[in-house]
Amino acid sequence: MKNGAASPVIKCSTHKNARAAWECGKCGKALCTACAAPDHVEKMGDVIRCIHCGGIAKAIMVERPVDPWWRKIPAFFGAILSLGGIGKLFVVAVMLLIAGFMAIVPFLGFIFAWIFYLGILGSFLIFVLQGSTDGKEKLPSLSDMGHELSDLLAAALRMTLASAIVWIPFLIYIFSSPSGFIASAKSGLWKDPVILSIVIVGIMYLPAAFILAALTDSALNAANPVAVFGIIMRAPGEYLGIAIFTAVVFFGNAALEPVLLKISIKVAGHSGFIMLLLAPVMSTIKLILPTLDFMVLGWFIHQNAELFDLPGGGNLVAAMPRARPMGQLSQQLVQKELQVQPSFEPPAALELESTPEEALSGSLKMGNDSIALESYRKIIAAGRVPELDTDQEMDLAQVLERAGDLKGAVHSYRRAVKKNMQDTRTPDALFNAARILHDGLGAKEDAKKLAKFLVDKFPGHELSQQAQRFLA
Ligand SMILES: [Zn+2]
Ligand SMILES: [Zn+2]
Repeated sequence: MKNGAASPVIKCSTHKNARAAWECGKCGKALCTACAAPDHVEKMGDVIRCIHCGGIAKAIMVERPVDPWWRKIPAFFGAILSLGGIGKLFVVAVMLLIAGFMAIVPFLGFIFAWIFYLGILGSFLIFVLQGSTDGKEKLPSLSDMGHELSDLLAAALRMTLASAIVWIPFLIYIFSSPSGFIASAKSGLWKDPVILSIVIVGIMYLPAAFILAALTDSALNAANPVAVFGIIMRAPGEYLGIAIFTAVVFFGNAALEPVLLKISIKVAGHSGFIMLLLAPVMSTIKLILPTLDFMVLGWFIHQNAELFDLPGGGNLVAAMPRARPMGQLSQQLVQKELQVQPSFEPPAALELESTPEEALSGSLKMGNDSIALESYRKIIAAGRVPELDTDQEMDLAQVLERAGDLKGAVHSYRRAVKKNMQDTRTPDALFNAARILHDGLGAKEDAKKLAKFLVDKFPGHELSQQAQRFLA
């Protein structure tokens, strides 16, 4: 995936010279545009059918080569400088200014200002990083950002902890030798070897710490140097590039500050009011480079999804995204299909089930893929995990794989394994999860882990023999 090696082109099973865009879920044939026909099915919407057997076909997915982060910079700049992008930055800039004004409140005002400022900035940047980690090339919608006060506090905490390696030594230095610090502040901070080493460590360390702060579930983990070095060591060479880019952005923004101030003063003359009006504009401009940097940091993860244990599922795209089915479907085939799979007309009873959990287990029992999928997605969207027995979990995994949700299928197999290690279907679940990770998601290391577990736990099993191919 990293070097964007082209996936082999799959040819139509019937027409050897034509590229196949779909694969039949029933007879397994690879289908070109002439072998596929459009159809409409209740509850599923528009589908593609195989003209040979009438089965539903799904798009053949291939890995999309991912651009390296530096090649995304013009696109990211474009996204930030678009009307929507600048609008979002402006909203954040205004919020930051309001947070800054809290410092006027006597007594603890400056502490609140600090928390809100860092919380808003941190939430926004973490959010930007997470978006490009998922492969998005635009700024995420602000309405999806945290809504609760606790979200702001958590973000402020994460950013504070992530940058602790810089500000703690800095504070210690200032407090342990105030006179020394004042002396070097006068003669130029950059000449002070202590300050200089803190800055260099910061440059090398902070990008990884911010990445960790955005990806980790625990705020404390963001302060864990071992975890931060783990990020750096996944791709040290490329990381160096990211760190240098971040440093350039940081110093570029620092250099921008006095320039913007000069311009503001010139434009405003002596009018404090115009100065106030200009503040959000200047504050917006100061957000451009950091936003770009966090988009780049996220893309660095996206680009190296395998190395960061993120299945590269987001990189899968249809082999022929614009292919249109041109084949003629014989009505007889569809009729036959409907008889074999009555599930396309879902029984009304299923829809009346009260919870998606009940609908899921009911539809799995009846073999109704579309209702099972719909209920499964409802459960996941509500932040829950399906509660199924091993058999149903295995069925769900197959439904998800057929629907192209490979990550979901792997999770489902993993839940089946966790449920009952002694179950006779455990080797089956382990093998299938490893197969999807290896062949479908390109997550070879994860596949290897599962295969090794399978071979260790069930050494005599036939599937353990077959799993050897994932261990190579
Ligand atoms: Zn077929
Ligand atoms: Zn064909």
